[in-house]
Amino acid sequence: MLPNLPFDPSHCLIDGTWRATNATLPLINPSTGETLCNIARSFEDDVNAAVIAARSALEDTWGRMTALERGRCLTRLGQLVLDNADLLTTLEALDVGKPLSQAHADAVALARYCEFYGGAADKLHGQTIPYLDGYTVYTLREPHGVTGHIVPWNYPMQIIGRSVGAALAMGNACVLKPAEDACLTALIFAHLAKEAGFPDGALNVIPGLGSEAGAALARHSGIQHLSFTGSVRTGKAIQIAAAANVVPVTLELGGKSPQIVFADADLDAALPFLVNAGLQNAGQTCSAASRILIQQNVYDEVADRMADAYRAKTIAPACDDPDIGPLISIRQKERLETTLRAAQDLTCIARTPMPQNLPEGGAYVQPRLYGPTPPDHPLAQDELFGPVQVLIPFDTETDALEIANGTEYGLVAGVWTQDGARQMRLAKALRSGQVFLNNYGAGGGVELPFGGVGKSGHGREKGFEALYGFSTLKTVAARHG
Ligand code: NAD
Repeated sequence: MLPNLPFDPSHCLIDGTWRATNATLPLINPSTGETLCNIARSFEDDVNAAVIAARSALEDTWGRMTALERGRCLTRLGQLVLDNADLLTTLEALDVGKPLSQAHADAVALARYCEFYGGAADKLHGQTIPYLDGYTVYTLREPHGVTGHIVPWNYPMQIIGRSVGAALAMGNACVLKPAEDACLTALIFAHLAKEAGFPDGALNVIPGLGSEAGAALARHSGIQHLSFTGSVRTGKAIQIAAAANVVPVTLELGGKSPQIVFADADLDAALPFLVNAGLQNAGQTCSAASRILIQQNVYDEVADRMADAYRAKTIAPACDDPDIGPLISIRQKERLETTLRAAQDLTCIARTPMPQNLPEGGAYVQPRLYGPTPPDHPLAQDELFGPVQVLIPFDTETDALEIANGTEYGLVAGVWTQDGARQMRLAKALRSGQVFLNNYGAGGGVELPFGGVGKSGHGREKGFEALYGFSTLKTVAARHG
């Protein structure tokens, strides 16, 4: 059952006020199939009101605050997120089907984003530029204005933290469109932002359908920057909408990320990363390590050990805190099962046992590990977004690099080898936004710039780098003789 909330979850938040929309949408608990509550279904008018509220906040209140004051708001918000971490954890488990421990880690990460960007708010400076005699030239870092944030359902808290956190730090006013499948933590975050002292309109939240609220936000002429995380298909639509208004856009569109295991790797150290980076959040992770490339002479050992790890994982409703919960929805479950049915030519070498007593309406998919998989097979090329990994044997470093770089994506890559020269060669040659040497993910790394190349998208969020993306540069040239 849904805990009591300090606001009506069927409302959107515009200009500091919770408002009803003309219609609502049911929010489903994917662990059971039950309806948790109704959420707002925002339309063009609601989006318009949110953009107007954000613009007013820029002109009257939020836009007049100093960087130090903005930073303090974010830092207070980080503390409130920590104080409310248990509530956020429960809501995310119910809403996303994310196991409690993983949901709690997301709540802590959200707080950390607020702390990080709270501290960074007054640290991004302009420069002075030596120029002609009689001139003083300097640059000013300024907010874009009203920023639109369209986030998916897989890591709502982390993605809101990295995108809205950085945008607010730079003094933008935000309109946030959470996913229709999961938006409760976005609403709590906005509620806490009010408590932390953000002026009305600095952060507006308009839940709703992508084709309605999302599309209306993407094409709105009052938006000066768009940040989107989700599918390639929607990312293209967002980029086209942004182009119509000539506004910058940050796209994070997922991947088909490899981990490469060489024969000289420390396999004991590698093993948990090889498996967990594929199964965390039931594989619904943009940076999931969905391809494991293994050098031939250790292939059997790695495959056997990964298979054992798959068999030892637990599956259960999210609130029982298993290793693996359900997928986000029956729609995603059916999509994945259709794809897997078409992959009969591959050998599934391990499955996680499915307990008998799973709730009937839950969106559970049996985790599967596939044995030797040709690098050009659809399961080795397409983002599956489920608890599925493929193993790809290789002979040489050159082969490994060609396979690793051989998809349309380039988000994250991991390399396991004790050969330092090989580490450096591959770190340079891998076509990827992040490369991890003898680890994978580095513990989440709020401080580490994140984003892709190719179909994984463009622009960087996270870390200090995000502040450049969420600001624009003005050059001032003063002629004084
Ligand atoms: P999606 O891209 O359709 O949805 C992501 C967000 O975009 C949601 O808030 C949605 O409401 C919004 N949206 C949808 N259509 C829109 C439009 N026309 N204009 C503006 N906003 C719109 O993703 P999905 O349907 O939730 O998932 C489908 C696939 O996307 C997944 O299977 C997965 O491959 C991929 N995905 C990737 C990530 C990631 O982190 N890279 C996250 C979620 C989904």
